[in-house]
Amino acid sequence: MAKVGKACGRVINGLHLYSIMDPLVEHLFETPAPEILKKFQNFLKRVDKRVILKQLPDLHEAAFEKVNCLDCARCCKNYSPRFKMPDIKRISKVMGMKETAFIDKYLSMDNEGDYVVKTRPCPFLATNNECSIYDHRPSDCERFPYTDEDVFFKRPAITLKNAEFCPAVHDVMMGLLSKG
Ligand code: SF4
Ligand code: SF4
Repeated sequence: MAKVGKACGRVINGLHLYSIMDPLVEHLFETPAPEILKKFQNFLKRVDKRVILKQLPDLHEAAFEKVNCLDCARCCKNYSPRFKMPDIKRISKVMGMKETAFIDKYLSMDNEGDYVVKTRPCPFLATNNECSIYDHRPSDCERFPYTDEDVFFKRPAITLKNAEFCPAVHDVMMGLLSKG
């Protein structure tokens, strides 16, 4: 993925994914991206970040009551987390592989020196959209989509990019905007 950013752990390839919207989540993306971007940036300029941080847990929970990741998996299908060395050590051990063999088989190094998956969808994504290494998945995957962390508003450009494909990010963003 040519990177636009990855503060949220996902490497983003700059695709405008509204164009490949699936009907399952289409209704969540009614506002065009440039309009949301402008609103979100203006919102961040005027609203106390401590207030936002307090609102995030409820908005996060509300978003994931509407969105089922197992019906989506758009992140795992289209992007790669970073596999940091602790991730590689942990996952390769569980898989009974040497770290070097694990890297050779599944990973390549990107132009920022991070290990990312060689192929997409992620090789650990099962056909039912479950993660086959869920309990041991990379920390980037564990934290994504950062809807209950300060990263959400500290890196607005990344959040906006994530909102282009992740309905939960989009929903939390719209929830914040509706309160502002
Ligand atoms: S985190 Fe977002 S993009 Fe990934 S599966 Fe869940 S809803 Fe979809
Ligand atoms: S490791 Fe699991 S959670 Fe992470 S991208 Fe791959 S399938 Fe998705």
